[in-house]
Amino acid sequence: MSGSGGTYEASWLCPEPRDRARLIDMERRLRPVRNLAFGALGVALVASGHWVGWWTLLPLVVAAIAFMVMGRRAEDRARPELGIALAWVASVVLIAVSVSLSGGPKSPGLPWLAIPIVTLPARFRLRGVVAGVAITVVALLAIALGVNAGAVIDNPSGLIFSFALIMAVTCLSVALMRSDVDHRNDAVIDPLTSMLNRNALATRVAELAQQARVSRQPVAVIVADVDRFKAINDGHGHSVGDAVLRDLAYRIRAELRAYDLAYRLGGEEFLILLPGADADAAAEIASRLRSVVQEAKLCGLSVTMSFGVGASREGLFDYDEVFEAADQALYVAKHAGRNCVRVAGADGLVSAQAPAPLAAVG
Ligand code: GH3
Ligand code: MG
Ligand code: MG
Repeated sequence: MSGSGGTYEASWLCPEPRDRARLIDMERRLRPVRNLAFGALGVALVASGHWVGWWTLLPLVVAAIAFMVMGRRAEDRARPELGIALAWVASVVLIAVSVSLSGGPKSPGLPWLAIPIVTLPARFRLRGVVAGVAITVVALLAIALGVNAGAVIDNPSGLIFSFALIMAVTCLSVALMRSDVDHRNDAVIDPLTSMLNRNALATRVAELAQQARVSRQPVAVIVADVDRFKAINDGHGHSVGDAVLRDLAYRIRAELRAYDLAYRLGGEEFLILLPGADADAAAEIASRLRSVVQEAKLCGLSVTMSFGVGASREGLFDYDEVFEAADQALYVAKHAGRNCVRVAGADGLVSAQAPAPLAAVG
C-alpha cells in the first residue's frame, strides 16, 4: 500500500492527476463541438467535391470514427490520454492523406492541418503541444515535398502561409491554455494553505472510484480537525490562527509526501485520501500525523488534532459512505477527549487506533 504515492499511473502526457482530470473534462466539453467541426469540414468537402474529388470525404469519416471510439468513456480508462493522443495523430494523418490526394502543396485543404492544433493545448501540457506541433509540421513538409516538390520550389507561398498559420494558432491557443490552467488552479487551491480545496475533491474522487474498480484495491479517508482551535483564535488572534493552519498544512503534506491527496475542507478541518490503503494502514498514518502535530510547536503553541478514519471495501469506493464513516469516527474521537484517532470498522462501529490509545494521548 502506499498512502504517500497513491495508485496514480503517471504518464509522459499526464504526469500529475490534475493533467488527466483536465484532459477528461476537456474531452467531455470538446465531444459535441468536435462533431460540429467535423460537420463543417464535411459540408466543405461535399460542396467542393466536384473540383477536389469525392473520396476526400473518406478520411474525414475515418477520423470522426477514430475520435468517437477513442474519446468515448475516456474517463473509464486507466490512461485515457493514450487513446486520445492516438486519435489526434490519426486525425492529422487523415487530413494529410486528404490534402495529398487533392493536390498536395496546391490543395486548398493544406491550411486545414492547423485545425487539430487548437485542441492540443486544451488537452495537454506544453510538452504534448510541442510534440503535436512537431508532428503537424512533419506532415506539412511531407505533403509539400513528398507529393509535388517541384510545385513548392516554383511557388512556396502555400507552404509558408500554412506554416505561419500553424505557428500563429499554436501561440494563441497556448496563451488560452495558460489562462485555463491558472483559473482551474485558482478554483481548486485554498489560498491560505495552498492545499487543494473541496472543489478539487469531486474529480479526484470519481477517478479514485474508477481506479479502485480496476485495481481491486480499497481507498481510505482520514478526516482531521484541530482541537479547540477557537481558543487559539481567541487567545492569540486570528492571524496566529491562520499561521497555525498554514504550518499544519505544510506538516501534513510533508508527512504524506503527496500534495495532491491532502485537502482543506474548510475552517480547521482537513481530509486525506489514501488510495490503496485499508483501515489499518490509514489508521497508522493518522496516528503518525497525530504525533507529528502534537510534538511540533506550531507558532510556539501546543496544538493537537483529532482524527477519524474510514475505508472502503476492496474495489468498491463510495466516497459519501466512507466520508460519513470517517466523520462519525472523528465525532467519536472528539467525544473521547480529543488528540486521538478513531477508526470506523466495516460494521460501522468505531474503534480506537492501537498505536495511539486514548489512555496514552488523552
Ligand atoms: P473542537 O475541538 O471541538 O474542534 O473545537 P474548535 O474550537 O476547534 O471548534 P469550532 O468549530 O468551535 O471552532 C472552529 C474555529 O475555527 C472557529 C472559526 O473562527 C475558526 N476558523 C475557521 N476558519 C478559519 C480561518 O481560516 N482562520 C482562522 N484563524 N480561524 C478560522
Ligand atoms: Mg476544531
Ligand atoms: Mg471543525
